[in-house]
Amino acid sequence: MGENTWRNWGRNQRCSPAAVEEPESELEVAESVKRAAVAGQTVKVAGSGHSFTDIACTDGRLLRLEALDRFVAVDDEAKTVTVEAGIQLWKLNEELARRGLALANLGDIDRQTISGAIATATHGGGARFGGLATFVQEMELVTAGGEVLRCSPDEEPEIFACARVGLGALGVVTKLTLRCVPAFRLHSLERPTTLEQMLADFDATVDANEHMDFYWWPHTDVATVKVNNRTDDPVRRKSSYKTWRDEVLLSNYLFGALCALGRLRPSRVPDLMRTTAKSLGKTELVDESHRVLCSRRLVRFVEMEYAVPRADVGKALLGVRDLIEGEGLRVDFPVELRVAAADDIPLSTAHGRETAYLAVHLSSGTPFERYFRGVEAIMDDLGGRPHWGKMHFQDAATLATRYPEWERFQAVRGRLDPDGRFRNAYLDRVLGPVR
Ligand SMILES: Cc1cc2nc3c(=O)[nH]c(=O)nc-3n(C[C@H](O)[C@H](O)[C@H](O)COP(=O)(O)OP(=O)(O)OC[C@H]3O[C@@H](n4cnc5c(N)ncnc54)[C@H](O)[C@@H]3O)c2cc1C
Repeated sequence: MGENTWRNWGRNQRCSPAAVEEPESELEVAESVKRAAVAGQTVKVAGSGHSFTDIACTDGRLLRLEALDRFVAVDDEAKTVTVEAGIQLWKLNEELARRGLALANLGDIDRQTISGAIATATHGGGARFGGLATFVQEMELVTAGGEVLRCSPDEEPEIFACARVGLGALGVVTKLTLRCVPAFRLHSLERPTTLEQMLADFDATVDANEHMDFYWWPHTDVATVKVNNRTDDPVRRKSSYKTWRDEVLLSNYLFGALCALGRLRPSRVPDLMRTTAKSLGKTELVDESHRVLCSRRLVRFVEMEYAVPRADVGKALLGVRDLIEGEGLRVDFPVELRVAAADDIPLSTAHGRETAYLAVHLSSGTPFERYFRGVEAIMDDLGGRPHWGKMHFQDAATLATRYPEWERFQAVRGRLDPDGRFRNAYLDRVLGPVR
């Protein structure tokens, strides 16, 4: 790769920015944006490259905010923290735990930056929680003119409303104040069931538990349900050998080997999935919330995820099952279901409706287009909204009608970035030109 070549975690996106800069302060971010304006370059921040779309790609100036990863302030009484935007979630979680705090919910992994995660409406699972962007109370942005702008519900409220899920289109986020909760432990129970039973119990499971994750294993009728609930019980981890065996050997290396075998011999994929599904057992543990909610992902994959009204979860999943069976597709990864609360953020995938998320994956290097386009057609019929950081084939024309406050976002974008300083090919496609 060339000196300035950037690529994402999924290895399906790469770009060659004209320049790469690593500012160490908000002032240096502002100077960099001003220099880009003089040079007529666009500006894009890359987080930790965990989006599967080309949302972080640029042929202009790429800013990396690895050095902006500090805690700025902690308000013990209000239970808020102010952090620099480049901090990765694993570091944020550890620093919060040291202060007796935690984020109320998290996604599957903790390698993203906080600003990258909120920019794409990253979420976890649990009907009582919104995505990470709903925890944001205040933000600081460097705007296209190189000025620092603070926004919150009381200061520039219109910008704040939109910038929480800003797709990187409104400016460079430099600081965020986040609402936290007292640190808590979770009791986690994962058990196999059948697809039919999982769907029959879906609402009851969602209503009775705080955090949950559902998986269906394609080519089988096996499903897995994982529920995590608060507990005062002491930490009860698996032994380090069992953790290594389950999380590294079985979930990653052995699973990775099966995926590699499946890529070499696609006709074996259904058998391999059946073998894997048969080996699934019950797992139970108690640990700090962030250790339960986030895990390691060593097998690289590509992913598409759609947000649909929660009431349509059965139609969505059975549609995908029928697609796989009807088209004879070979799918080497489980299909994941999660839920989230409705929120009021204009471009949040959970805007205005209780949401179910359905995610499909294939191991990296497997042709994904036929499967993902088929899934997208099913989600289109359900008014699905694609995760901004995961593969999809939509554009501004198809997306505008799915977001009731689309024009509100476009108005803020037009006001903050009239010359398109923060545009890239992805934003041109999904948002259209700046208006
Ligand atoms: C293994 C894996 C697991 C995942 N699990 C989940 C999950 O559980 N739930 C979920 O919802 N998603 C999940 N995702 C998707 C992921 O959370 C998002 O794609 C997220 O945006 C990645 O964050 P990042 O720091 O890598 O940002 P990037 O992908 O590098 O960038 C994303 C966007 O944020 C913008 N951005 C980043 N920093 C700034 C800044 N400071 N100012 C302005 N714009 C900025 C970028 O310009 C870009 O537009 C997962 C992805 C992977 C690879």
